[in-house]
Amino acid sequence: MKFKILCILLVFTGISYSSNICLIPQPKELKILKGNFTLTNKTSINISTISLTNEAKLLKKLLQPATGFDFTVLKANESSKIYLKLAKPSESFAHEAYKLDVRTKEIEITAADSSGFFNAFQTLLQLLPSEIYGNKVVKSKVWRIRNIQIEDKPTYSWRGAMLDVSRQFYDINYLKKYINWMAVHKLNVFHLHLTDDEGWRIEIKAYPKLTKVGAWRGPNEALQPAHGSGNKRYGGFYTQSELKELVQYAAERNIQILPEIDVPGHSKSVAVSYPEILCDGNDTTKSVQGVSNNVWCAGKDYNFEMLDTIIGEVATIFPMKYIHIGGDEVNFKAWEHCSFCKKRMDENHYTKPTELQNYFISKIEKIVEKHGKLMMGWNEILENSTLDKKTAVMVWTSSDEVEASVQKHHPVIISPASYFYLDMTQGIGERGHNWASIIPLERLYSFKLPTDSLANRFVLGIQGNLWSEYLDKPAYQTEYQLYPRLCALSELAWSGNKSTFSDFEERLNKSHYDRLFSMGIHFRVPPPEVKIVSGKMQYFKTLTNSKIVFTNDSTIPTKNSSILLNDENVKSIASNPNNILLRTCFKDSLLSPTVSIVNDTVGFWDPELLRKSPTKIISLAIHPEMISDSLSNLLIIKYMYGSAEISIKKIDIFRDDSLIYEKGYDKPFLLFSHQPQIELSLPEKCFSKTGNYRIDVESIGKNEVDSYGVILVKNSNF
Ligand SMILES: [Zn+2]
Repeated sequence: MKFKILCILLVFTGISYSSNICLIPQPKELKILKGNFTLTNKTSINISTISLTNEAKLLKKLLQPATGFDFTVLKANESSKIYLKLAKPSESFAHEAYKLDVRTKEIEITAADSSGFFNAFQTLLQLLPSEIYGNKVVKSKVWRIRNIQIEDKPTYSWRGAMLDVSRQFYDINYLKKYINWMAVHKLNVFHLHLTDDEGWRIEIKAYPKLTKVGAWRGPNEALQPAHGSGNKRYGGFYTQSELKELVQYAAERNIQILPEIDVPGHSKSVAVSYPEILCDGNDTTKSVQGVSNNVWCAGKDYNFEMLDTIIGEVATIFPMKYIHIGGDEVNFKAWEHCSFCKKRMDENHYTKPTELQNYFISKIEKIVEKHGKLMMGWNEILENSTLDKKTAVMVWTSSDEVEASVQKHHPVIISPASYFYLDMTQGIGERGHNWASIIPLERLYSFKLPTDSLANRFVLGIQGNLWSEYLDKPAYQTEYQLYPRLCALSELAWSGNKSTFSDFEERLNKSHYDRLFSMGIHFRVPPPEVKIVSGKMQYFKTLTNSKIVFTNDSTIPTKNSSILLNDENVKSIASNPNNILLRTCFKDSLLSPTVSIVNDTVGFWDPELLRKSPTKIISLAIHPEMISDSLSNLLIIKYMYGSAEISIKKIDIFRDDSLIYEKGYDKPFLLFSHQPQIELSLPEKCFSKTGNYRIDVESIGKNEVDSYGVILVKNSNF
């Protein structure tokens, strides 16, 4: 359990202020000053040149709904004003950079381009009360901003978020909300995964069946129901004019849209619409996701003509310089029994399917370039690759692939599944996948960005990806998976590894959850951490505007359940503390996952510790003062998160180097996200307040890999 520092304390020129400035992402440089500026109905927006008229109108649009003020746009001096100043070329402002200077009588914003002004406006909004994000006028609110100087620019030029609109269809209005939320976090690339086995979502005028047939699934459709879409017709697609409008909407918010057409695998929705794209063999094998007949034939010349037309249409809709072509998880078996593919392999003297994959991807690369764009693909495209160095790679399989791609001098987007896949669960027992890892907020935030010079040259940025199977029920699940993890990703992308997690978490708890709430985002509320210390319930409430609700009979708490008071005697609320369940309730509205009483943590392991251990034994020192209750008689070894399992063979406990307890397993006990803990009953008075304790856990197998765990003790007798 971490106890948080209460506020940011900034010391400048001998004056110290504690303040409520909680910005996400954290600016590069910030200086808090004495005094405040207050927005009033007399505040005008002034511009240094007529070319900033659009920026002024945008700022007015952002500030008006909640304040209800007029914000007249002027090219003159007023007593209370927001002044937008176009930077001189000599000031050498970077793209997207800005300066924000809040003084008692004036706010001055300087930038060299519209993206810089846009980013400054987002920071300005965060300096105001969170109600600024609401759609209705909030009367009686004082719109005060602390005097401050900020100089800011992004670490990475690519700060992305992906949404899979194939497995689940989201309408255009939802995509606009997604864009609005990205903009608040200064994210600037919206990656739309437009096609996959479960649905084709983009209108292609030359091939109307792609959306007439391939966009729908259901009992009487060519595509079968999947991912909970049930016994009804499910699906949809975006017309080209809708997408063009969305591109414009995003551009006004400093966001580019990256379209993805996933080939040659993940193409069941194409195959049911135009079966002639498939190989001629009678292939019955399945892809990783269990889908058969979903791969484009690499031997039919006609297929490349069709893809030329499709990519040509895509290129006219999206102005972004990249087109993502997927290239992941191709089931090569489909090509093995096909006469067209065999002929292609023979002609080119290929012996491996990855060579045919490279042939396919290279052909697509030429097509993409012909239409004036650059290609991007998932990192599998680099296997046996002869691709152009301009082709960019989105790394997902592991963070090691980042270095491999950089070594080959390709532009890289960092997006490893075990850190940045937002469909992974956020905690044990919660909704979401866990095949790559459990990804709590802290794990995502703690990702170490590469710093070597080659990486600095080739890494364009980072991206969070949300695959969408099973997210539509309940409807808020998409937002629950995204936030607050996308806030953490935005800070990594904008500010790099600048702050600590506890500092980030504190800004989130103190202010940023309020902003998410005002924007109407159904985010994941962090669960409470409640302990029993000397018979009393104790917690440290970190989240503002929240309460802790509980039950004492193992039923799930609701927002109407009893409110827990700090220092309450445990005996007065429950005969057995094991039956107490708790949740955080935010603003009487959002509820956290349900948890029980937190046990004492006496040790933990992490990848560093595993790597350093010369043997298979992980030795964990236990500090006696950490054992608050010497009667603890249960030892729990708990897997927290990571991308690999740990197999435990033996557990030994030592007091002052003498063995006091041992437990061996004939068959090693596997600890991983599906089977996260072992619970062991210890002898009476195993631990006492004196003595030095150590736990040795002997593991076999993959103990060098990325896994985190804790050792807890608990008192089962009350
Ligand atoms: Zn074929």
